This record gives sequence, structure tokens and C-alpha cells, in this order.
Amino acid sequence: MSHIAVIGAGITGVTTAYALIEKGHTVTVFDRHRYAAMETSYANGGQLSASNAEVWNHWSTVLKGIGWLFRRDAPLSLNLTPSWHKYSWLAEFVGSIPHYRANTIATTRLAIAARQHLLGMAQKAGVSFDVEQRGILHIYHDAKGLDVATRANALLVEGGLSRDAVSADEIRHIEPALHGKYAGGFFTPSDFTGDIHNSPAA
Ligand SMILES: Cc1cc2nc3c(=O)[nH]c(=O)nc-3n(C[C@H](O)[C@H](O)[C@H](O)COP(=O)(O)OP(=O)(O)OC[C@H]3O[C@@H](n4cnc5c(N)ncnc54)[C@H](O)[C@@H]3O)c2cc1C
Repeated sequence: MSHIAVIGAGITGVTTAYALIEKGHTVTVFDRHRYAAMETSYANGGQLSASNAEVWNHWSTVLKGIGWLFRRDAPLSLNLTPSWHKYSWLAEFVGSIPHYRANTIATTRLAIAARQHLLGMAQKAGVSFDVEQRGILHIYHDAKGLDVATRANALLVEGGLSRDAVSADEIRHIEPALHGKYAGGFFTPSDFTGDIHNSPAA
């Protein structure tokens, strides 16, 4: 194929286009907005992480989601108005729960490779995006939360991620701005953050 059209100039479209150009294709990226990355890629958490690779397909997420339906300050909310797309998606979500373990391990491997590819592309293309290579720290306020995280962490480690369990004192040492009481946490030195809209070209 000599000329490829990529629809969507979010992180997926732009990195796909870059990889295709590297393979010698001519690529045109189309987007309905005037500028790239104006939808989901616009203002996310900016984390380039493998430590968040645990998939959400777990009964605990379903229970949390049901609880959130009744909270005004829920971190995620669901409009229950029927639509085939929404309910078939929810059915697929639940159908993937038996694959939680295998999918978390596979997603960790993918995330480790994706971080590497993204840094490589940015360096090669000379795109700076305020990268902060200082790792990512997850903190837990109680023993129950830490227990759940410890079980998930075993899968991330199986996927190849190097992640250190840290005590409350170590948490304060890594991030002196944290003053609360913590049961413990995990620190992933290889994770980093960036700002997609903070490049000289933006
Ligand atoms: C609150 C929040 C926080 C997040 N935090 C993180 C994080 O810290 N780290 C992380 O890795 N991920 C994070 N994510 C997930 C991440 O932001 C998304 O996975 C990612 O941005 C998706 O990129 P995308 O290119 O697939 O989609 P988008 O960025 O949405 O790009 C799709 C593009 O397609 C265009 N488009 C769609 N339809 C058409 C059409 N018909 N014609 C032309 N153009 C079209 C849109 O305009 C858009 O620009 C977060 C997501 C959310 C919502």
C-alpha cells in the first residue's frame, strides 16, 4: 500500500502514522478538529506508565461501578439510558472477567514496550513534551487497599515490570510533599510523565 489514511490525530493515530512512515509508507492523518489531540488525548493524567496496566475487568470494579451510580462525586458515572452499543460493551466487559489474570500480564508487557516506543519516537522526531523521568508512586492509606494492590502487583511483576514495595517512611522520602499516614505503597522507577500539549510545536 503506498498511501495510507489514518483517521484521528490522538496519540493512537499520530503514533500509528509515525510507525507507518518509518516503514516507508506515505501517510495522511485526518481529524475533525483543527489541531491534533483535542479529544481524549487532550487532558489525561499524562502518565506514561506500566504500573497502571492492571485491567479493570474484575468483579470488584463492577461492584465499585454500581456503588458509584449513587454518588454525586463518583470518579466515573454511567448514564443508564439504553443503547445497544453501551449494553453490548458492558456485556463484553463482564465476559472478559475470566481473563483478568492473563490480560493484566499481557497488558503489562504491552505497556512496557509502548513506553519504550513512545520515548524512542519522541527522541527521534525531536519532540519534547516536558518529560519527567522520576518514576510513579502509588500510595495506600489502609492495609486492605495495600493487600489488594500487592496481589495485582504480583501480576505486573510477572509481566516483566520492576516495581518496589515501599514503606510509609520511604513514601515520604520519595515525595516529601506527602504528609499523611500510609500503610505502604509501590514505586515504579521506570514510569514517567509528560504533557502532550507542552511541546515547542504545540
Ligand atoms: C480522565 C482520563 C485520564 C487518563 N489518563 C491517562 C494517563 O495518565 N496515561 C495514559 O496512558 N492514558 C490515560 N488515559 C487514557 C488515554 O488518554 C487514552 O487511551 C488515549 O488518549 C486515547 O487516544 P486515542 O488516540 O485512541 O483517542 P483520542 O485522543 O480520542 O483521538 C481520537 C481522535 O479521532 C478523531 N475522530 C474521531 N472520529 C473522527 C471522524 N469521524 N473523523 C475525523 N476525526 C475523528 C477525534 O477528533 C480525536 O482527535 C486517560 C483517559 C482519561 C479519560
